[in-house]
Amino acid sequence: MGGGGLYAKPFGTRRREDAKKEKAQNFAASRLRVNNPLTYRFPMTDKDFVTIATPHFNIEGRSRAGHETWFRVRELNAAFDIGRCPDQLIATPHIFVTHAHLDHAVGIPFYAGQRQLHRMTGGRVYVPADAAEGMREIMTIYERITGASFEEVEVIGLAVGDVVPLGRTHEVRAHRATHRVAANAYEVIELRHRLRDEFIGREEREISELRLSGVTVTEEWRRSMLFYTGDTDRGILEQSDAQNGELFKSEVLMIECSFIIAGHEERAAKYRHIHFDDIAAFAERFENETIVLTHFSRRYSRTEIHDEIRRRCPSVLRERIRLALPEPYQRL
Ligand SMILES: [Zn+2]
Ligand SMILES: [Zn+2]
Repeated sequence: MGGGGLYAKPFGTRRREDAKKEKAQNFAASRLRVNNPLTYRFPMTDKDFVTIATPHFNIEGRSRAGHETWFRVRELNAAFDIGRCPDQLIATPHIFVTHAHLDHAVGIPFYAGQRQLHRMTGGRVYVPADAAEGMREIMTIYERITGASFEEVEVIGLAVGDVVPLGRTHEVRAHRATHRVAANAYEVIELRHRLRDEFIGREEREISELRLSGVTVTEEWRRSMLFYTGDTDRGILEQSDAQNGELFKSEVLMIECSFIIAGHEERAAKYRHIHFDDIAAFAERFENETIVLTHFSRRYSRTEIHDEIRRRCPSVLRERIRLALPEPYQRL
């Protein structure tokens, strides 16, 4: 049927087409503004940027599979993965990179370069032990071909069980993630000194007298605050289940969930990623207060991710799950 006739299209269709045209024009206009240096005063807002408030941390970042993943925890002055190194991470002194895949690690030389440019001292990038030498070679090659000096930034390999202190109050422990390349998961542990049980309820004066007389009145106390898996397959859940289960006990769990719909289970297994059904299979094991799902495949829209996970989510997890997507998609 040819268009243009009086009755050719119902009013609703015309209205939809007008809206589409308007949207396309607005998009073109916004591109023009961005590409024109005279009008480019307002930086584009990052549509994928997320902020997630957990009981003790404010986490910000972005995460989509194969594109870019990084998260910054303000309270720790640390980041997990670096993505392409956004401006927000340049001044962050501790960067824990889970593995060498580009969407998680390609920003490392840029981080070093920006820190050199701004004359910042220090800067530590932690990577899996098996990737450390290769990453240092990359840095050396960049130094050679650009004449830059990255000597301030240290690339440090971490093996499973290695612990890095973060100030006096926290430490980060490396765990093994099960992925197609060497990969670490990272656990943040809070360190506190608390009164030993036998002194609880005593007067403050008495306790300070005991302390002065040489009695040890406090004991060290550790609490797992955050467990960040990076890229992994369900092997990390099986491994945690069989071992100490830190992943299930940490206050906040950030776990990748690249695939969500029926028919993508094989793809998840092949590329060594997690499918939401893998998480659902362990539903009863999670003791975490908050579970943040990250690293969704870009083949899914935000609405699809939200609705599909809501549909598949066992009720025992529903209230605790957060999606690493901008609002209003975060809660199920
Ligand atoms: Zn990835
Ligand atoms: Zn990966």
